[in-house]
Amino acid sequence: MKHKNDLEKFNNLIESFSNLPTIGKKTAIRLAYYICINNQLEGMKLAHNIENALRFIKPCQQCGSLSENELCGICTDEERNKDTLCIVETPKDILIIEESKSYQGLYFVLDGLDNEKILKLEEMILKQNSKELIFALPHSINSDATIFFIEDKFKKLNLKFSKIAQGIPSGVNLENVDTISLNKAIQYRTKIEI
Ligand SMILES: [Zn+2]
Repeated sequence: MKHKNDLEKFNNLIESFSNLPTIGKKTAIRLAYYICINNQLEGMKLAHNIENALRFIKPCQQCGSLSENELCGICTDEERNKDTLCIVETPKDILIIEESKSYQGLYFVLDGLDNEKILKLEEMILKQNSKELIFALPHSINSDATIFFIEDKFKKLNLKFSKIAQGIPSGVNLENVDTISLNKAIQYRTKIEI
């Protein structure tokens, strides 16, 4: 006789946890047990926060960073240095650079390069009157091609181009770089000659 599984919902929760990055089956069981048995209030809060985050977080209309409004907190922060625009691959990279506290300028999320992105980038450069584009992309042939393409596209705008340098090994994403290396990489960025 087939044993009836009366823990279907609990097992679904375990499965959802174990589908998340960095969470293995054992941790998934511990988390599910914790929020269903040990701390149901925390479980309710978690459910509420996930639902709210999913509902309200969207890309900033100007830079593509994560935001709960049309424009993100960085774009609307008057204290930020408007002269520099740091080009990153994903919104996650912004969170990481912000965590390192090594950069005070604005950002632009590339997230794939197409005509619409180029137009958005140009719009932002002109609107903010940017003086320098800093490329904080992972080292790869693809990134080199992207940098070359963007420089070529905007050479008439009289911008300075640089890219973060030291401490970023090739093929490594920003999220796997420690804060000190990232700090140095931004501080000692190198000018790109064209
Ligand atoms: Zn923004």
